Amino acid sequence: MAKISILGAGQEVGRSAIMLNGGGKTLLMDAGIKVRDQDLGVTGFPNFSHNMKIDATLVCHAHLDHSGYFPFINKEFHCPIFGTTPTQSLVELLINDAKKVDPTLPFGRDDIESAYNSFIGIPYGLEHTIGDIRFTLHDAGHIPGSAIAEVKIGGKRIAYTSDFKYEETRLHTGAKVVADVDVLITESTYARREHRSRKDVEHEMIKTVKKTLHEGGNVLFPTFAVGRTQELAMVLKAYNFNVPIYIDGMGRTASEIILNYPRYIKNPGELKAAINNLIAVGKDKTIPTRKPSIIIATSGMMEGGPALTYLLALDKKLKEQEQQSSVVFTGYCVEETNGWFLQNKQMIYLKERNFKHKKEKKAKPIQIGLSIHNHHLSAHAGEHELYDYIEKASPDKVICVHGDDTPGFAADLQEKGYNAVAPKNGEIIEI
Ligand SMILES: [Zn+2]
Ligand SMILES: [Zn+2]
Repeated sequence: MAKISILGAGQEVGRSAIMLNGGGKTLLMDAGIKVRDQDLGVTGFPNFSHNMKIDATLVCHAHLDHSGYFPFINKEFHCPIFGTTPTQSLVELLINDAKKVDPTLPFGRDDIESAYNSFIGIPYGLEHTIGDIRFTLHDAGHIPGSAIAEVKIGGKRIAYTSDFKYEETRLHTGAKVVADVDVLITESTYARREHRSRKDVEHEMIKTVKKTLHEGGNVLFPTFAVGRTQELAMVLKAYNFNVPIYIDGMGRTASEIILNYPRYIKNPGELKAAINNLIAVGKDKTIPTRKPSIIIATSGMMEGGPALTYLLALDKKLKEQEQQSSVVFTGYCVEETNGWFLQNKQMIYLKERNFKHKKEKKAKPIQIGLSIHNHHLSAHAGEHELYDYIEKASPDKVICVHGDDTPGFAADLQEKGYNAVAPKNGEIIEI
């Protein structure tokens, strides 16, 4: 017998944390924080109590909603942390940055360092044992180093997808199926929404870029540092633009880290060429906007980072020189982030953060006249990919987590004959 406890990501997106108990041992899968912006800002933690005993933690990928809490877990429960080596390096980058943005996170720089030192990097496909628990990580196709966890516990076989993409992208070959499991714990981000084909999205995105450049403007891509920056660099390289492509912010460091782990990339040579094709912005941030160019900059939801600096510079250029430019979003923006405000109301707020009092003082809104576009290169499985994956995994039970409407998804799955549930945070499922 085994117990599955949902500590986070139950009927929500963010702060993923799933605990497995069996054979007297406890394994935690993911320890995330609820983030407003994948690159910045924190709004919630999973539910841990001090009397819990955790024997080991798996960090399935580096995004903060899956990894951001692990220095706290390490400090509190002194357990080893397992994940792939790219995850180890990327987590260190993202958590240090999160701590810089929000100094009130419940762990210090020392805890981040000691968590990093407790991290045991393991490759895909190799089984590890903690007491009677055996686990293996498999490629999840989501971001470099991302993993689906296969766990054997209490006589049951469980697969946990964390975040995954089943279809091939420029960066990854797609998630590996863990077949014939007793339980599949699946993300549900796009459970009731279909993605348009990658080819179509790329095609339209390139049309926007070409049109803007042709009219003498700049194209700004506010982009997540890990995964999306590299994918976008590959798409842009494939179309051979004759203008400079600049990169600024954390995406640059993330790319350098990712290039160190070629085995986790579908085509490392192509990625290297794409990254080498980018021009890193130095101290003078005015250079990229002087002439027509493409700019890739963090943060993805424009809550901060150089993307915001370039947005304001391009808007000023529009007002002073009547030169129109484009802002292109390639990912999802959480409600009430600047990315969301831009797409829905053509405005942003420059916020003054006061994390000590968990308050944000909103300054006056700034109207933005730039042309705003949406071309989503999603790193998550869309609706049909989710169904295809579940069919191939052929589980006896499906547990839906990490979605805006997990009960709706579970109901759809039940209609198709699956035993599916959508637990809330705090629920325990016995199998
Ligand atoms: Zn993710
Ligand atoms: Zn996630």
